This record gives sequence, C-alpha cells and structure tokens, in this order.
Amino acid sequence: MEHLSTLSNNKLEKWLNEHNSQAYRRKQIFSWIFERWLQSPLEMQNIPKELREELNSSFASSTSKITDDHSTDDMTDKILIELADGESIENVIIRTEDRTTFCLSSQIGCAVQCHFCASGLDGLIRNLTAEEIIEHLLICCRKANSRPDNIVFMGIGEPLMNIENLIQALDIISSPERFAFSPRRITISTSGWVPGIIKLANIAKPYNLALSLHGTDDTIRAQLIPEKCRYPLSKILEACCEYRNKTRRMITFEYTLLKGVNDSYEQAQKLAQLARKQHAKVNLIPFNTVAETKFIRPDDHHILSFLKILTDNGIQATCRLKKGNNINAACGQLRRSQKNQKQKQEQK
Ligand code: SF4
Repeated sequence: MEHLSTLSNNKLEKWLNEHNSQAYRRKQIFSWIFERWLQSPLEMQNIPKELREELNSSFASSTSKITDDHSTDDMTDKILIELADGESIENVIIRTEDRTTFCLSSQIGCAVQCHFCASGLDGLIRNLTAEEIIEHLLICCRKANSRPDNIVFMGIGEPLMNIENLIQALDIISSPERFAFSPRRITISTSGWVPGIIKLANIAKPYNLALSLHGTDDTIRAQLIPEKCRYPLSKILEACCEYRNKTRRMITFEYTLLKGVNDSYEQAQKLAQLARKQHAKVNLIPFNTVAETKFIRPDDHHILSFLKILTDNGIQATCRLKKGNNINAACGQLRRSQKNQKQKQEQK
C-alpha cells in the first residue's frame, strides 16, 4: 500500500478524481501532513468524513512510534523510534537559543562499521524507505512541536549507501508543495562513499555535504574505517571537489577526536593544510565513549588547543564540547542498549 506522504501530485489528484473529489483537496491533505504533521487522515478536519475514511483505507498510515526518549539538560532529545518490523532507529532533536536541528537516520545499522561507532557494530540490517525517513521527520516535528531550522543526516547509517531512498525523501522535504524546506539547510554526512558523493554531485542541488574525515591520511583512516568500505583519501577529495564545483557549496570536514590516534598537534596542522586546500570548514567532534570500543576522548583542554591550531591557521572551525558529543559520536548507543536489553530478556 502506498503512503500519502510520498504520493506524487498527479497520482493523488487522479485518486481524488476517481473518488469524486476535487483537485484542491490535494493541497489540504498535504497541508495536514506536512504543516500539521498528522499521522492519520481520520484527523483531517476540513476533509469530508467519507473521504477521510476512504483515504485511511486506501493508503498506508504511519506505524513508527517513539519507544524511548532521553532528554538532557542541554536541550537535546534523543529519541528511539520503533518501526513496523520491530527494528528501531535513533533521531536527535537539538535545540540552541536560536535554532532547532533534527539529526535523522538513514539506515538500520551500518555496513561501514567504523571501529569507534556504536551504529555499525552489528553491520547493516536494512535501508530506511523514503516513507520512513519522512515519517521520522514528522515524528520529530510533533515531538519538538516545531519545524526544524536545520536537518542533518548524521544519525544511524551511511546516507549515501541508501542514496535512492534518500534522494526521494530529500525531494519531498525540499518540495515547495510538501515540507518546503530549503536544501541549503540540509546536511548529508558521509564516511567518504565516493559513488554516492558523485551521484549527489550530479543532482547539483545545494545540499551541504559533511565528510567524516577523522584522519588526514590513509594510514590514520585505516585505523578507524574498515577496508571494505574505505576509499583512498585522494579519491574522496576528488569527489568532494566535484561536489563543490557542481553545487557551489563549501564542504565540512567532520573530525572525531580520539586520544592518541588523530589528536596530535601535528595532525591539527595537517588538518588545517588540508582544509585550506579544499576550502573546507572543520567541525571537531569530541568522542563519546562507546563501551565496545577501545577509543578514548581527549581532555577538553587538549581539544580546545587542537581547535586553536585550526583557527590560528585561518580555518573556519567549530567544536561543541557538549552538544556535538550528544549528536554525533554517541549515535547508535540508545538503540544498542535497547537491543541488548531485549536479548537479555529473551535469554531468561
Ligand atoms: S560513523 Fe557513520 S558511517 Fe561509520 S559506522 Fe557509524 S553510522 Fe556508519
């Protein structure tokens, strides 16, 4: 059964026509879904009751639900969403004084399996569908009781390994007739999946691309990202260059700081050189401990000194000691702890 949220204008208008309803109902239906974030057509008050019921029986409705919610003092909500097949994903709502950011997932699990990340520990389970991505965005709107100011695909999964569904969802999110959200306020993060970067570059829409660099050379990256999904840095940077040329957007280098691995001051200098050469911004992410990994977070003083080397070199660089921690590095931990609990209960 198709979902209303991803139905094309033509298809919905055809369906309305077949059900003796006028085309203007399409706008009303989309307004309920994308502006008021309703889950069920039965709640669409300005639609005749009979039509609401027909919509409800003809199209699939949202089945994802929030099963856990961790709010923190720094205005971050990490929510665990259970899907129709019993799998779950995490999304995060981050509020600052002046903006709200939604961090969305793109896959259940992750095939890349970076050694420092909880999301990839069990590998990839499946891709999220475009409908699920939209559904989770609308769940976040309901939870936050607002639209986001920014959307980042930095949750569970490598978004560019699910590029077909991601593009379908992005088209709906940025469509003026649907969620009407500016592509310039959407960021897609990648571990360096070259075919995906090139495909996204060819679409030439001004989405922001964030490269999870984590190391300034292939030797350091080899300690963090398994070989099966790791491209040589030179190829990744070439693809990023193509992305920049086609979209005119500045790339961001995401750099998770790991003590004794990539946090030396020499590495900071190399990162500054690379960022300057690539016209990239840098976002430093202090690592948040993942029990199953051996990595350690550097102390805050060291992180700030690393940051200072970048800024002293004229690089546009940021580091959120608290919130960055919650958004990026800890991704996948809530899902993992719920999965472990379920397994323990099943073994009893
Ligand atoms: S850091 Fe990103 S790409 Fe790497 S395993 Fe985690 S979710 Fe996948």
